[in-house]
Amino acid sequence: MSAPFVTLAEIEAARDRTAGHVRRSFLDRSPTLSRRLGHPVHLKLEHQQITGSFKLRGATNAVLSLDAEARAAGLVAVSTGNHGRALAHAARAAGCRALICMSALVPQAKIDGIRAAGGETRIVGRSQDEAQTEVDRLIAHDGMTMVPPFDHPAVIAGQGTLGLEILEDAPEVAAVLVPVSGGGLVSGVAAAIKARRPEVRIIGITMERGAAMHASLAAGRPVEVEEQATLADSLGGGIGLDNRLTFAMTRALVDDMILLTEDEIAAGIRHCYREEGQVVEGAGAVGVAAILAGRVRVQGPVVAILSGGNIDRNDHRRLVCEGGP
Ligand SMILES: *Cc1c(COP(=O)(O)O)cnc(C)c1O
Repeated sequence: MSAPFVTLAEIEAARDRTAGHVRRSFLDRSPTLSRRLGHPVHLKLEHQQITGSFKLRGATNAVLSLDAEARAAGLVAVSTGNHGRALAHAARAAGCRALICMSALVPQAKIDGIRAAGGETRIVGRSQDEAQTEVDRLIAHDGMTMVPPFDHPAVIAGQGTLGLEILEDAPEVAAVLVPVSGGGLVSGVAAAIKARRPEVRIIGITMERGAAMHASLAAGRPVEVEEQATLADSLGGGIGLDNRLTFAMTRALVDDMILLTEDEIAAGIRHCYREEGQVVEGAGAVGVAAILAGRVRVQGPVVAILSGGNIDRNDHRRLVCEGGP
């Protein structure tokens, strides 16, 4: 393969580098989902990560991989929220500044999270691409250092540390359900797991509304999709027309992609709360949602990554009180 894939060695180095800075999340068996699927289902409780999502792994590995000069210039990124919050936290821990640019579609709870973690925020336009234009300007004019949310080797390697933990805690796993947006998480997790256990199936999950990676895989090259409001807001945004890593890695390493409706995602959020006792955001609930919707076909134990928990508390309360399955 010609694409410069992130390697197992880089992921193992990321684990050593980030140890003590990120939390090793629990893997919990779900009796209700196991009964429903007919195979053991384990939930990787990564929404309990510091900053509320796995994004801290990639951001921390990227920041700790930078030299002192790049850090001192200040860090900048586009984010739908969780990467920004993670980068703000990682930057503060490393003693540098972080400025997060985002579109007006990002929920207020996520903006507040970034500010609480010590980050500065700037709202630009109504799409990730417009926010990216501002980041490009800050790099060119102010010499700031970009830490992108997914298409970067150190970020992918950081997310891949989740894959190492899954293999340690569930060595018998047959399939892993991974939420997909830009593909940094699924690329890292797949690289880690396939390097050791190539037969484990990696199943990417996303929403029907504005699934850029799915559209790109279908087209055979990165394409743009219209950004739409979705319960899985952390899965919105494009993969970048000049995508360097995650498109090729996802195409090569991911066995299957499942697309979910908004009702299916809502049912996933409700199940996580009512049956598992977990407050999980839409993007984090898609693995559970896919099992509930009867869309997952496997021959053995499954791990679903609950990737994040940063959902507006009022939105969450409305969803879980509304009734519905
Ligand atoms: C960013 C994010 C994802 C998707 O990760 P990618 O690396 O962009 O594919 C999934 N869930 C949550 C909670 C996220 O914040």
